[in-house]
Amino acid sequence: MYSQSVKESDLHRVELHCHFEGALRPITVFNIAKRRGHKLPVATPEEFAEFMRRKEPSLLREFLSYFPVLMSFVAGDPDGIVQLAVDFIEDCAKNKIAYIESRYVPQLFAKDSFTAEDGLQAVLRGFELGSKRFGVKVRSILIAIRAIPEFCDETLRLAKAYANHGVVGIDVAGDDKEDYDSERGGTHPDIVRLFQEAYKAGIHRTAHAGENSGAEMVTEALDSLHAERIGHGYHTLDNPTLYQRILHDRVHLETCPLSSHLTSAVLTDWPHHPIHRLAADKANYSINTDDPTFTGQWLDAEYRMCLDRIGLPPWELVRTNYCAARSSFLPEEEKADLIAQLDAYYRVRL
Ligand SMILES: [Zn+2]
Repeated sequence: MYSQSVKESDLHRVELHCHFEGALRPITVFNIAKRRGHKLPVATPEEFAEFMRRKEPSLLREFLSYFPVLMSFVAGDPDGIVQLAVDFIEDCAKNKIAYIESRYVPQLFAKDSFTAEDGLQAVLRGFELGSKRFGVKVRSILIAIRAIPEFCDETLRLAKAYANHGVVGIDVAGDDKEDYDSERGGTHPDIVRLFQEAYKAGIHRTAHAGENSGAEMVTEALDSLHAERIGHGYHTLDNPTLYQRILHDRVHLETCPLSSHLTSAVLTDWPHHPIHRLAADKANYSINTDDPTFTGQWLDAEYRMCLDRIGLPPWELVRTNYCAARSSFLPEEEKADLIAQLDAYYRVRL
């Protein structure tokens, strides 16, 4: 049923910031929706892929509004979710990804009596099947949504309960600009508490910040959320003191170039993208896709775009893979294995 077209020894990339809900294979979603009798806005899988793909920059809020649309077709369908997770791993293998940390909101998979925990179990089952078939190592990060702090208790419970079953961390996502409140001081107190509890429990933490918002949300993520990595973080560069801190402390920035363009997080042309500064300063950052279903490109195309349009040299992409491996949420021993896997691939080619 599944083809093993990519050799395991070819897998040499590390991706840390990819939303599973934003990376669902359109044809599979289309088929699941048909099977379940959903009304679809288009007639063919190809048209559906085009329907979901964002072509022009818009606001982050609008970009995010397509997540619930996509999830409405698959929520509450265990077989479909398992299949989507297997497909996801196959797509990772096609893009030569050796290790990926995929993030998602378990509650978005819930429907009626099918709970967030049921959804999480279905995703983990599909990831496990996919890993065995395609040789890609995968770990999960559970996301809290800025606008729905009510999910926090469950997110913490699931992160703790599945820590030995592939869940390695938590994240917070949503429109970080809209959330920022200068009087209250930013992120909702329940989400801050979630991160502080996770910190105490030894659960890793990353946070979307400085994407749509300014540098102040990055400072908050570091100081109040105990974030070890920052999702996007472009606006860190607006504050020289904070940027120096990021460089000095080797805080990892998970950049997502095409996504940053489509969400208008970075209002500049490619030759002046913040990634140039990160590269020049040898910052600790990685190249990621964020949401391939919505951006229309997986990691292979993202790398090509970095080379051709942003103008990064090939060795910089290699360096970012090592940055990603070292800043992954794997235990030290598994991290060393991953770095050895990268060494085995790059040493014979450089
Ligand atoms: Zn993201």
